[in-house]
Amino acid sequence: MIALVTGAGSGIGAAIAERLAADGHIVAVNDLSLAAAQATVDAIGKAGGLARAYAADVSDEGQVNAMVAAIAGDLGAPDILVNNAGFGHQAPFEQITPEQFDRMFAVHVRGNFLCTRACLPAMLGRGEGYIVNVASQLGQIGGVELVHYAGAKAAIIGMTKSLAREVSGRGVRVNAVAPGPINTPLVEALSESWQAAKRAELPLGRFGSPAEVGGVVAFLVSPDAALFVGQTLGPNSGDVML
Ligand code: NAD
Repeated sequence: MIALVTGAGSGIGAAIAERLAADGHIVAVNDLSLAAAQATVDAIGKAGGLARAYAADVSDEGQVNAMVAAIAGDLGAPDILVNNAGFGHQAPFEQITPEQFDRMFAVHVRGNFLCTRACLPAMLGRGEGYIVNVASQLGQIGGVELVHYAGAKAAIIGMTKSLAREVSGRGVRVNAVAPGPINTPLVEALSESWQAAKRAELPLGRFGSPAEVGGVVAFLVSPDAALFVGQTLGPNSGDVML
């Protein structure tokens, strides 16, 4: 199948793209910069997989529509969409500016909406498609100084459930993953003391790897997950148990 993974020039998105390529899918690798996306494409190529890089800001309607049209022309319309692009930002509520709030929702929530909107018609036309949204456990339980981030991730979980109810009967399965702490630049930017304290409170005693999240996404788009609809799976080292 053809898969589009957004924000796949780094971290979790890169690992998802690499895993889907290893599973035999042809992967459109999106990121803000072409160079970042190309680095993932090169890694996939070295491992014997097929991929192509596409630069676009997922919060920009024109860029998203142009990207999905280019993918359809180059590779074929995506059968799989992984809405992963995102960024972290932590600040006390009183210090979050309206601009920071808007950017958080623009990338995570509007970006998810725009990419899904661009890819869904072809999936419905074929009667088959798979959408996986990357949320966060913070969207389930909240987090201190993370009102904008946790709010955006909670919105993604609500969108996942709603779209799943709407389109599953027409062959498109929509699910989410809500990772706990995963070793990526996003988490490595947090202080060593925070990381050590967090690690100590995890039942598993360690953070996850991007590849371990990639494995969950690979499962969700596989026939083994045929009964998973509107679910939010939690690769979170036992931090959140629902
Ligand atoms: P990362 O910073 O390593 O990678 C994110 C990628 O998204 C970057 O390459 C960045 O350039 C890209 N990106 C950002 N804004 C974009 C935009 N507007 N359009 C296109 N690409 C854009 O971070 P990561 O940890 O791999 O995070 C990936 C996703 O996983 C994010 O949605 C994040 O919120 C989520 N997440 C991460 C963790 C964690 O512990 N790392 C936990 C839960 C959820």
